[in-house]
Formats: sequence, C-alpha cells, structure tokens
Amino acid sequence: MKKAFLVKYGEIAIKGKNRYLFENTLVDQIKGRLSKIGAFKVTKEQGRIYVEPLETIHEDEIINVLKNIFGLIGICPVIVLDSSDFEHIKEMAIAYLKEEYKQFDFTFKVEAKRAIKTYPLNSMEIAKEVGSYVLDQFPTLKVDVHKPQVKLWIEIRNKTYIYSKIIKGLGGMPVGSNGKAMLLLSGGIDSPVAGWMIAKRGVKLDAVYFHSHPYTTDRAKDKVIELARLVSVYTGKINLHIVPFTEIQLYIYEKCPHEQLTIIMRRIMMRISEIIAYKNDALALITGESIGQVASQTLQSLVTTNDVCTMPVFRPLIGFDKQDIVNISEKIGTYETSILPYEDCCTIFVAKHPVTKPTLKSIERSEERLVQMEEMIEKAVKDTEVIGIRA
Ligand code: ATP
Ligand code: MG
Repeated sequence: MKKAFLVKYGEIAIKGKNRYLFENTLVDQIKGRLSKIGAFKVTKEQGRIYVEPLETIHEDEIINVLKNIFGLIGICPVIVLDSSDFEHIKEMAIAYLKEEYKQFDFTFKVEAKRAIKTYPLNSMEIAKEVGSYVLDQFPTLKVDVHKPQVKLWIEIRNKTYIYSKIIKGLGGMPVGSNGKAMLLLSGGIDSPVAGWMIAKRGVKLDAVYFHSHPYTTDRAKDKVIELARLVSVYTGKINLHIVPFTEIQLYIYEKCPHEQLTIIMRRIMMRISEIIAYKNDALALITGESIGQVASQTLQSLVTTNDVCTMPVFRPLIGFDKQDIVNISEKIGTYETSILPYEDCCTIFVAKHPVTKPTLKSIERSEERLVQMEEMIEKAVKDTEVIGIRA
C-alpha cells in the first residue's frame, strides 16, 4: 500500500493573496523540516497538502516532524490509490482497516467525497456501499452515523485517498509568513516560551543573549544555546546573537545607585537588542516579562524599561501566572533545560533591595553619569558573536 500524509491546515479566514502566501510558506516549512529525515514529495492540490515519502521511513518519525510545524491543524496518515475503480477501493478499504486496527469492536461511519463529478456513484452512494462492504467483512463492527468512534474517509480525486486517523497539529501559522522578530533569550523558563508563542503566529525568530563572562560561565551560554536549539525544533533555524555584556554591567555597577542596577541594565539590553534587530531586519522585540513577577517587572519598572524602545516590544506572557508558563514550557520541551542551575547575568548584579517603583526621571538622572555608554554599546554590538542554530 502506498502511504502518504494528508496535511490539514487552518486559518480559513485568510483569503486571496495572503492565503497563497500562507500555503506556500507552509509547503516550504514542511519541505525544509522533512528534508532532515529523508526524501519526500510535498504537493499542494485543491487546497490540501500531501506529503509522500520517497523512501522507507518510519511513520512515527514523519509524524513527529510534522507535529512540530506551526500552521498544521491535523495530520492524517492516508493510503493513496492511483485508480478510482470502485471494487479496488472497497478491497483497499478493508486492507487499510486490517492494518490500522487490531480489535474490531468499534462503531464507525464512512465519509465519502468525490471531486470527479462524472464518477458513477455520488458521495452518499459511495459511503453506503463501502459501509455495507465493511460490515460484511467485519461483522463485529457497528454503524453509528451520529457519534462514530471511527470515521473512515474515502476521497476520490485525481487519486483516491483512504484514511481514518487525524493526529492533532499545533495550529498557528507557518513560520516566515509574518516577518521576523528578535527574542531576548535568557536561560530562564519564560523567554523560550515567549518566543515559541510569537513564532506560533508565523513570526521567524532571531535571538539575542547577553553574556557576562566570567560572571556567567560558558555553561550558562551553552544552556542558552541549547534552549535556542529546543525552540528551533518548532521555528527552524535561529540566529543567536551573543553580546559581551560584562564591561557594560561593571560600568553601571561602578557609576549608578545599586538599587537601580537592574532597571538600567535592562534599558541598555533593550537598546542593544533594538540595534541588532534593525541590523537583521527584525521588526519587533520579544521578552518573557510578566507583570509583577519580579521587581524588574512591576508595571513601573516595565514602563521605565520600555521607554528606551522605539520598536514594538511583544510580551506574550504579560498576563500569565508562573504556573501557566511552566505548563507551556513542559509541553514544548524547554522546562528541563530552563531549570538547570546556571546563573544568568541578572542574578550576579542584583541589589539586595532593588527599586520596585522607579521613576523615569530618577533613572535618567543616574544614566547621565554613564558618559561612555554610547561607545560601549557600539563596541558590544561590534563584538557580538552570531551562531546559527537549528535542531
Ligand atoms: P526568564 O525566565 O525568561 O529568564 P525572568 O523571569 O528570569 O525571565 P528577568 O530576568 O527579569 O525575568 O528577564 C525578563 C526578560 O528579559 C526575559 O524573559 C528575557 O526576555 C530578557 N532577559 C533577561 N536576561 C537576559 C539575558 N541575559 N539575555 C537576553 N535576554 C534577557
Ligand atoms: Mg531570567
């Protein structure tokens, strides 16, 4: 039996030119991601996408790749018949059921579709005929037209497709259909989840990580690289920009009141991220901030940090409780890595009593002491290391 996969996609509200873009981006994503495990033919026809392996590859391996591509709502393993001969279809429906199911004690219904209007039977007749043939062959099955446990689909198009299982996809939109954004990726739980959420809406990611060597070790850097790799399972290649941040942090430490360190540091991070974003055609920044989670994320702190940005900053976790974020990070597979105990640069330079209600005026006044900051930012950007990461 020739096996393939029928890919169902959502966002049916997208029309015209955008739909075309959506579909083509999805096909590109599927092709790119599957190319890692073997040779495939991916075709778009009549508003559907078919994936056909050109060599022997285990079905589960293919499904595991497809399951992590944004934009798919369902993956159906199908058998493909080159002929539309009705007797042959009936036989193959039986062969299909024998292969897919072990016990024949379920209720079922046949759903038929024919794209060829000249076909000798209409959809209702196809369903009825196949249904009674299946019952003949498996007398322990029962028909239930309202709530069947199994729907057996017979679709007669240029080829004939038989399937009954729909594996749920992630939904969302294909990465690349909605521009690119720059994720501020730390070693924590939140930022990988934030990046994943925005990427799910079709946004391609680049990431920036501020590394304060030797206060943060190479192991901390490796952890961020690993997190980027885990996110790239869903997004495809991510360019990770690693910014040397130690000099800037020490400079702020030397010149500014310690209770303001975190806020000032975060403002500089945002400014540098924006410069790197512009240089790499990213249109927005993404952070893992959530209101009130820590001192640097009170509303006043967020407003003060945000003030330096001219680009939109997306904070998809803004209204999430920590547990909700943890749940997503477990689901997407970043949690175990995020909780590994390596310090991030913010934990080294935190004051005992950071301000929780900074005013923009007081922060700006402190920053006036940072006369060399422009030069230092320029140097940090120049010395940024870029690593291309893909799962
Ligand atoms: P996370 O779990 O994502 O580390 P957090 O709760 O530890 O977040 P903060 O340390 O205040 O919160 O950081 C808030 C956000 O700022 C992070 O979600 C991330 O987007 C960004 N950020 C923090 N530190 C860094 C860093 N060293 N490099 C890049 N981005 C960072
Ligand atoms: Mg953090």
